[in-house]
Amino acid sequence: MSHVLVINSGSSSLKYSLLDMTREVELAGGLIERIGQPVSTVAHTVHTVASPGEPTPTILEARYEDDRPIADHDEAFAAMLALFAEHGPVLTEHRPVAVGHRVVHGGARFYAPTVVTPDVERQIGELSVLAPLHNPANLAGIVAARAVFDDVPHVVVFDTAFHQTLPPAAYTYAIDAQIAREHRVRRYGFHGTSHKYVSEHAAEFLGRANDSIRQLVFHLGNGASVTAVDRGRSVETSMGLTPLEGLVMGTRSGDIDPAALLHLSRRAGLGIDELDDLLNKRSGLLGLAGHNDMRDILAGADAGDEASRLAYDVYIHRLRAYAGAYIAQLGGVDVISFTAGVGENAVKVRADALATLGFVGVRIDPHRNAERAPGIRRISADDSAVDVLVVPTDEELEIARQTLSVI
Ligand code: ADP
Repeated sequence: MSHVLVINSGSSSLKYSLLDMTREVELAGGLIERIGQPVSTVAHTVHTVASPGEPTPTILEARYEDDRPIADHDEAFAAMLALFAEHGPVLTEHRPVAVGHRVVHGGARFYAPTVVTPDVERQIGELSVLAPLHNPANLAGIVAARAVFDDVPHVVVFDTAFHQTLPPAAYTYAIDAQIAREHRVRRYGFHGTSHKYVSEHAAEFLGRANDSIRQLVFHLGNGASVTAVDRGRSVETSMGLTPLEGLVMGTRSGDIDPAALLHLSRRAGLGIDELDDLLNKRSGLLGLAGHNDMRDILAGADAGDEASRLAYDVYIHRLRAYAGAYIAQLGGVDVISFTAGVGENAVKVRADALATLGFVGVRIDPHRNAERAPGIRRISADDSAVDVLVVPTDEELEIARQTLSVI
């Protein structure tokens, strides 16, 4: 049996997943949130195969939750181990052969899953200048995990890696070239693990060779990005130097004239940290309508709340603009996929985002779009020139696959 433990360590959270990679199923997963605050929340879910002999075995789910103080990532790892020991699966019986780690920023240096060495750890730390909110937390998770699982390889999978195929014309910002080079200011792109997983699954589902089709992937969660994938390679993506650029997100602004920051600095006296906080944490849907959750925006708009209506319209307007631009970059499109919380669940967002693409032959089937079903599915009409799909993303599985591929 080959089990892989996947770790996603955020600044105040630890997400983990133990996967049985012979069957590619999750045995258990959990989320520890609000690390470092007076009360942290802990949730651990165990999946048990009730009828292992059957072709489609029944999976039973048991969930355990509690609240307690957890001071730092080392304590979070200890809590995770205690949860496995108490509720299962017992790690000595389901010993991981490797640990896979999500790391947000790999800069221009990392383009593939990489086995962790002291030098790799140092470079991830050094890349914190480009991702001060993410890389230090990712690194803390790696250090804590290596102390606990010291006899198996650890592998890092970067959010930026899939976008290392962007051509210079797509990743270069038109600013002073010397300054840009010196400070590594360019577009890197994020959500790469998800865009890779979704584009590959879409091709497989349709029975089409990935190296023969042009795809758009909309990853619409709390963070959101769209990627143009040309014959299996990311050639354009909406996030940039950081995950702030591009689409309207839950709390992030996405695109904004950079001079607006100069204006706010000069006229409103906002400092660098206040602007950072404004654009990353108090903008997007939250800034416009007071809610960062698309469900609240949709309900508000339905109930006649003007701010929710406007937030929704801005969100859709941006999606349409990016779809058009990326289809032009690709010279056409064969497949469009939606994934993540909004993309997988918000029927209206999918329909509205593509409503103006009739001129390239996109036709959504309203009944297929409205159907609620798990798994990958087609929502385009039979006579649509473009296949439109809902593809549930699985970043943990993708990280586990990539981890096994290099050990
Ligand atoms: P993250 O980026 O945090 O991983 P997810 O991919 O889990 O986010 O997406 C979370 C978001 O998905 C929520 O904030 C909410 O806006 C949206 N969402 C979840 N379920 C629905 C739904 N049924 N309808 C509309 N939006 C939804």
